[in-house]
Amino acid sequence: MTPADDKFYYHARITRRMDFAPDLWMIRVQLEGEFNFVPGQYATLALERDGKLTQRPYSIVSAPWESEIELFIELVPEGALTPRLYALQPGDPLLVRKTAKGRFFLDTESGRKHHLLVSTVTGVAPFVSFVRTLAKDWREGRFAGDHYLYLLNGASRPWEFGYKEELTRFEVELPWFKYVPTVSRPWDHSDWPGEIGRADDILRKYADHWELDATNTTAYLCGHPDMIANSKAILKRRGFLDRTAIKEEVYWIPPK
Ligand SMILES: Cc1cc2nc3c(=O)[nH]c(=O)nc-3n(C[C@H](O)[C@H](O)[C@H](O)COP(=O)(O)OP(=O)(O)OC[C@H]3O[C@@H](n4cnc5c(N)ncnc54)[C@H](O)[C@@H]3O)c2cc1C
Repeated sequence: MTPADDKFYYHARITRRMDFAPDLWMIRVQLEGEFNFVPGQYATLALERDGKLTQRPYSIVSAPWESEIELFIELVPEGALTPRLYALQPGDPLLVRKTAKGRFFLDTESGRKHHLLVSTVTGVAPFVSFVRTLAKDWREGRFAGDHYLYLLNGASRPWEFGYKEELTRFEVELPWFKYVPTVSRPWDHSDWPGEIGRADDILRKYADHWELDATNTTAYLCGHPDMIANSKAILKRRGFLDRTAIKEEVYWIPPK
């Protein structure tokens, strides 16, 4: 790293790793200095080789009060960074940009009290941060429970839900939080007891069920670009036309 890079990156270390599937895992990372962020923001992870940095953004799973940051990562086998991140184990070093970025925040300004959170696989990351943060605030009396979060999380197979247990526990505890994991390849998993279909397939049904409309709800779409495009089209047809009514975090641009 050059001195200029040192100014912008922390030398960080992996403290914990948990693999959910052969291509999905979470890491917890200890930074060497202060790292402020708002739930919904992303950290930039980087690795250096032959004097060249490769860096990518990753939504932060953890809440700002946690002492380490947590990331939920999918392996892209031909990718430039994820195969190298995948090789890292606890104790290994990596670089993290000193500033968090992004504007994928929970909307507490518009007056809409309902928040429809739609995600594919790792796209659940910023929503876990929302819920972890609000759960603590609620338990400690800083959040009155007057905003309602409804989370749809789509995956092909049941083991891709890295945070299902934690989110299910939150749903039991928190009166202002609902969680629906949905599997799009159920034929391989006859024991899957839950919802079937892609997240965008079940969006209409749950928006109706929870009585979410453009007057009372902000929608947040995170992850797979096709899910985001489909969900946006559905929501627009349902009147989510205001510029601030739909927020999106597209994880990659599909090849043309
Ligand atoms: C704001 C933001 C937050 C993000 N947060 C996360 C996160 O929390 N977890 C996470 O795993 N990723 C996240 N991503 C994606 C991440 O930044 C990388 O793009 C991804 O990890 C692939 O990096 P790579 O260098 O291995 O692949 P690249 O070399 O960057 O990509 C190789 C090819 O794969 C495509 N591609 C990239 N990602 C995927 C994918 N997941 N599935 C299929 N094709 C893909 C690219 O378009 C490209 O054509 C986020 C992206 C953005 C913009």
